[in-house]
Amino acid sequence: AKERGRNNYQFFRPEMNARAGERLALENSLRGAVQRKEFVLFYQPQVEIRSGRLVGAEALIRWRRGDSGFVSPADFIPLAEETGTILEIGDWVLAEACRQQVQWDQQWPAMGLKPVPVAVNLSSLQFRQKHFKENLLDIVGDYPLPAGRIELELTESIVMEEPELVGAVLAELKQAGLRLSIDDFGTGYSSLSYLKRFPLDKLKIDASFVRDIVNDSADLAIVHAVVSLGHSLGLKVVAEGVEHEAELLILNAMGCDIAQGYHFCRPVPAEKFQAWVATYVP
Ligand code: C2E
Ligand code: CA
Ligand code: CA
Ligand code: CA
Repeated sequence: AKERGRNNYQFFRPEMNARAGERLALENSLRGAVQRKEFVLFYQPQVEIRSGRLVGAEALIRWRRGDSGFVSPADFIPLAEETGTILEIGDWVLAEACRQQVQWDQQWPAMGLKPVPVAVNLSSLQFRQKHFKENLLDIVGDYPLPAGRIELELTESIVMEEPELVGAVLAELKQAGLRLSIDDFGTGYSSLSYLKRFPLDKLKIDASFVRDIVNDSADLAIVHAVVSLGHSLGLKVVAEGVEHEAELLILNAMGCDIAQGYHFCRPVPAEKFQAWVATYVP
């Protein structure tokens, strides 16, 4: 019995308690983080490959958690989705992206800079909430900004969940002037039929296919196929995770439209992004 007791004890390893405790602490401090103004949006440029021109930016959330520094979205977005906090966070992200653009609209033209659309990431929970579309249009409508300056990044899992409902909602958002793109394209194990039914503007090829494009002929073939597919459906194709010139040259030769990645700029705070834009030479 003693032997068995010891074995049972193995199920409660201290690391597991530590993990659960950490998670709980994270969950608690996530609650109210919007009110405490702990979130910041970082921006990463999107560049037209052919011309080198800046054509957009993606807003990526950062959480400054008390004294413990920045928490990666990969670590808190899933938790925020499980607890529902993502709804409040998502509303904040959208409003903040609009607020920042209105500010840039007031400052940039005098600096000789041309404002570009900003893309925000949507979680499937946001999409499934009641009155999602009304809520979203309400937020955007609070700002003196053309709806076309906001792009929504949707994952394949969002659009596959309830294709009928999603199709109707996307049609209305498009009608309202918003831009729509599919994020992490190729990672969702989804059917491609939604591509022709939904009013999309862009496909974003996941970084996992772009990373080894120089050495891996299978990745090269996949990226090439996605570019052709996107173009034949009238969509712009964006390559994510472009870190080196070599990848850019290949993407350009394939006719891929837009690149985003460390090669140009890491995601940076608004002021740094503005400084980057001001000094960027295509
Ligand atoms: P994502 O939407 O696929 O965003 C792209 C991620 O790739 C970002 O990670 C970005 O920093 C990173 N990245 C950009 N260029 C490069 C590159 O050249 N090399 C490499 N290795 N990485 C690059 P980040 O900011 O940590 O965000 C991770 C994920 O968290 C995002 O993936 C997105 O799914 C989610 N996320 C971020 N912000 C939000 C948000 O406001 N709302 C929601 N719902 N999700 C968000
Ligand atoms: Ca994204
Ligand atoms: Ca992505
Ligand atoms: Ca991703």
